[in-house]
Amino acid sequence: MVKGIAASPGYAVGDVFLLEEAEIVIQEEKIKPEMADAEWEKVKQAFAHTKMDLEKTKEDVAKRVGEDESAIFASHIMILEDPTLSDEIEKEIKEDNKNAVWATNHVFMGHAAIFAALDDDYMRERAADLKDIGNRVLKHLLGIHSSGLDDVTKPVILVANDLTPSQTARLDKQLIKGILTEIGGPTSHSAILARNLQIPAVVGCANLMQQLTQDSTIALDGFTGEVILNPSSDLAEEYQKKQKEYLERMEFLRESASRLAETKDGKRIEVAANIGKPENVKAVLDNGGEGIGLFRSEFLFLERSTMPSEEEQYAAYSQVAKEMDGRPVIIRTLDIGGDKQVDYLPIGHELNPFLGFRAIRLCLAEKDLFKIQLRAILRASSHGKLRIMFPMIATEAELLQALAVLDEAKAELRSQNIPFDEAIEVGIMIEIPSAALISDILAKHVDFFSIGSNDLIQYTFAADRMNEKVGYLYDPGHTAILRLIRLVVENAHREGKWVGVCGEMAGDPVFAKELIGVGVDELSMTATLIPQMKYEIAQLSYEELAKEAAEKLKR
Ligand code: PEP
Ligand code: MG
Repeated sequence: MVKGIAASPGYAVGDVFLLEEAEIVIQEEKIKPEMADAEWEKVKQAFAHTKMDLEKTKEDVAKRVGEDESAIFASHIMILEDPTLSDEIEKEIKEDNKNAVWATNHVFMGHAAIFAALDDDYMRERAADLKDIGNRVLKHLLGIHSSGLDDVTKPVILVANDLTPSQTARLDKQLIKGILTEIGGPTSHSAILARNLQIPAVVGCANLMQQLTQDSTIALDGFTGEVILNPSSDLAEEYQKKQKEYLERMEFLRESASRLAETKDGKRIEVAANIGKPENVKAVLDNGGEGIGLFRSEFLFLERSTMPSEEEQYAAYSQVAKEMDGRPVIIRTLDIGGDKQVDYLPIGHELNPFLGFRAIRLCLAEKDLFKIQLRAILRASSHGKLRIMFPMIATEAELLQALAVLDEAKAELRSQNIPFDEAIEVGIMIEIPSAALISDILAKHVDFFSIGSNDLIQYTFAADRMNEKVGYLYDPGHTAILRLIRLVVENAHREGKWVGVCGEMAGDPVFAKELIGVGVDELSMTATLIPQMKYEIAQLSYEELAKEAAEKLKR
């Protein structure tokens, strides 16, 4: 048995799919002229195979996701068939005597570089397409059969060293029955996405891949972090049974989840959901979410090669506002950086990305980008009840700057006669200890706080939330954290402002008790955790929880 860190609830058992990312090595060689025809033949073959791959992927995506989403692969096929590319490669091989791999790489990457330099979003996206297609051709030329996510064709347990948030976002729930990674912690964004997708997951299983082959089978317990290699058929059956029972229990709880959450002595706690994309709204409503306490808007910025335009963002935020039908939705402005990286934003390489140019820090330096997002949120606010929230605020000065940009965005819309909710509420995340410590000052400028415990814990204990080796320090139940949270709640309530918690601890019934005990007003979590949480809250007495929390804080 291997013990990892439980990251997404549920049980899974099945065949392993090892996700291996092979490295493409390009070597320049001078070939003999008489070899040129054979070398060119290899390229033609690789093009033919790539075309077959793309056609298969196109069909799969059309079936699984939709015709619109599959269109990208049709355009990839068109690019692949553009004779300019193949003519140039042929010339480099036959006239300049370059080897097939080098010539192919040179031509594809050369064209990609030209597109990338153009001042046009559409053209820049084509650069990423060219690189992608070029890499597919190169893999065929080099005989690299690395197993990419597109190769998964039957239900499997996905095993990877790590998954990026963009890879996780692409996962198909019908095929990926469980996720196991060698690194990462329970609050890494890949783990959060796995919970959103309701795929059982265990992370931080060091050296697991070495112990497996593509023929292995595996069982995982997303509650305890236990992983069993090649389970017996009895054990496999037991895991299947447990998963069935778990899903039935979830169904039972979901049925009673439409009620508002209240302790048995009448204290109302708002139970809301965290989402990353408009598609997640359905799960929020199905599970009885009273609102959206955190819309991680940065997920709209991942998995693409250019920034989403104001119109695209407006469409996404409006869709969420409309579908939530008057229930409150907190849109957090862009929190990119840390473990969420995109190539097209000027972040660059950093030694400590979690302590670096992230979230509001980037937005305040790139005001145009920030204002586009604020305009999009404001415009969408005329379609429902939206709230704005700034992430990673460390100082009062940052908050005032962010509010000034918001004022500019509002003034622009007014002068253009574009409607928005003039009374839109604005809040901040409290996820840096400095912000918690000056929360009395910050509370005067905002309507609410939402405590990002994932980061607050990481920064309080100086323990990377992605690093399983320091996982023992990552302790939401530590008195240090509860003291900070109580301080924030007291400071906010004194100013008549409310406080939520949207980090992962809010969805854990054990910690939720302590949060309620120190006076937190709202808990926001993965949608599927809501039914259980509402059930638990109804069994609790606020008076007792307050006493228990006070007791714990005395020490
Ligand atoms: C947090 O830090 O607790 C939080 C909710 O934000 P994120 O996990 O996206 O950093
Ligand atoms: Mg955070």
